[in-house]
Parts: sequence; structure tokens; C-alpha cells
Amino acid sequence: MPPQKTKSRSRASVLLIYTGGTIGMIRDHKTGTLKPVDFQQISDEVPEIGKFNYKIDVVSFNPVIDSSNMGSEHWIRMAEIIKKNYEKYTGFVILHGTDTMAYTASALSFMLENLSKPVVITGAMLPVREVRTDARENLITAIEIAATIEKGKAVVPEVCVYFDYLLFRGNRVTKVNASKFEAFASMNLPPLAEAGVHLRFNRNLILKPTGKKLKLNLGVDSSVGVIRLFPGMTRQWFASQLRCEGMKAVVLETYGSGNAPTHDWFLEELELAARHGMVIVSVSQCRGGSVEQGVYATSAGLERLGVIGGSDMTIETALVKLMLLFGKKLSPKEVARQMVKPLSGELTI
Ligand code: ASP
Repeated sequence: MPPQKTKSRSRASVLLIYTGGTIGMIRDHKTGTLKPVDFQQISDEVPEIGKFNYKIDVVSFNPVIDSSNMGSEHWIRMAEIIKKNYEKYTGFVILHGTDTMAYTASALSFMLENLSKPVVITGAMLPVREVRTDARENLITAIEIAATIEKGKAVVPEVCVYFDYLLFRGNRVTKVNASKFEAFASMNLPPLAEAGVHLRFNRNLILKPTGKKLKLNLGVDSSVGVIRLFPGMTRQWFASQLRCEGMKAVVLETYGSGNAPTHDWFLEELELAARHGMVIVSVSQCRGGSVEQGVYATSAGLERLGVIGGSDMTIETALVKLMLLFGKKLSPKEVARQMVKPLSGELTI
């Protein structure tokens, strides 16, 4: 089905949650450093948004943070703000640093179960007051998407990331560029919308709400890690991470479609970890495509050991999903079962 145009309703209301990041920084010309602006005066910064006929309120983290300092306590705070204000607003826009935006987007997509309103996360590569900033366009369109409803229903009832004229499913993005405005990519799912002269939504891709009441999943267990395979890796290094005290799960960044070495020591270490109940999920180092265990002999060993094929999940999403599933106090067996199921559109079966 071709992407479709739609109109947004006037009199909608949007809650802007300002967490920090480059978007809200201004350069102190004396010292050259960046410091945060007060987004309570959002219309001073981006007067264009006053032309929307929306009610726009702002809540701000205090202090605002660079997203490199983002932790699970901040994901929880965002989820709680949304829950507290859920009935009052048509949609939500989160202003966030780009560095860990993909992790936050994934976390919120699992934390906000049965979401029926838009949560649009955006940021910018240049501060809002810079002449060539991308902040204005990102912010204006994110607000418009958050406010778009049709027949009383949100057009995008999902956690998404809006950046550089594209709207992506939040748990499908990765930051791929540190210096271009086109900073995010969603390699395994096309954009949910494209902003040109019109906002064109790819409706067949957008998740349908469950119709159930919003439920927060706020439990997070950080006893998880990522191990990236590389040629020449030593047993000592691999073992030191797999045998790390208290770890419950690991995302194994494998090659290509889920391939890994077939050396005895490598498989022995994995077998030992699996025997101790560790959940091991294979996600490809390639940004696009999917893990297909067993296609090559180099992944058949993993399959035999019970390593879970993470399909086409991003590394960010696989990691955060493990944190939240263990946060629900599920058994390793149940976590393993849910890792191969799409809970919020994060993987393709
Ligand atoms: N370091 C910043 C952050 O992630 C970068 C940005 O906002 O683009 O908070």
C-alpha cells in the first residue's frame, strides 16, 4: 500500500518532556562550552510552534543531562511522567540526546505496554540557537506527529524516533552517524512516516493498539552485557566476560547471519555459561539483515548449545529487552522464550 497523507486535528495537546542533549544547548561564547537553555520558554526558542493550534506544555528534567549519562532510572522517570499525564494529552514528545536515544526508545517501547498514544523522541545534531540547526524541523514535525489523530485515534500509537524528515519505530533505530543530520537508520524496518510537503504515513507498518489499559513495566535488571566477537579474540578475554559474577544474560554480537568461531574452547565457554543458566542471544554485527542460525556450519554449534537467534533485532534492543524481561523476574527459560517473540514490533518472525 502506498504511504498516505493525513491531516492533524487542531486543539490537540502535547506534553514535551525535555531531558537534555545537544538540541537544548547554547554555546557560551566566552568559554566555548555548551550549556542548557530553558525549554519552559519553548516558543521563544522555536516561535513557529506557536502557529500550531495545540496546547503545548513542557516538563523538564532537573538537571537536564547529556544522554551519555542516561540510565534506567531516567527511562523509569520518563515512563512515569507519561503515565501520570496520559489522559491529559493527545501525544508526547521527548527531547533527548542522540547518543543513547536508541536505548531509551527501546526501553520505553517495552515499558509502556498497551500504548495507544504517540511518544515521539527527537533531538538534534546542532543546538537550537545555531543558524543551521536541525533542531527546529525535528521539534516542529515531532510535535505535529504527536498531535495527529484521526477519528479520535492516534495515527502513530507507538514509541518512535523522528529525525531528519523520517519517523522510525523506536526499537528499530541505531545511531549511525556522529556528524550528519541523517544520524539514525532503521535497517530492518522502513520508516513509519516521511515528512516532505505532506506527512506521509506508512499505515500498514504502524502497530495497532491492543485496546487494553496502559500498563507500566518498570522493573529493570542490569545483570546483562554485550560481547562483540572479533578475529583473534583470546579465551581469557571471552571467559572473563562470560564468567563475570552475577551476569544473567549476554548479547553475543556474531558475524553475518549469526556466525561464530567453531574452536573447541569457544564452544566450551559458551556451553559452561549456558549450563549455569545464562541466556545468550546472538545478534548480528551487520546493521541490516537477520540472524539465521544453522544456515552455516559456523552457527550450527551455537544452535546446539541453546544460543537464541535474535532475528533482526538491533543490539540496543536485544540488550534492553533482556534487562526488562529479567526485571519482570522471569525465569531464564521464560526470558529465552520471550526473546524470540515480538513484544513491541522489535523483531520480524
Ligand atoms: N552528547 C549528546 C547527547 O547524546 C549528543 C546529542 O545530543 O546529539 O546528549
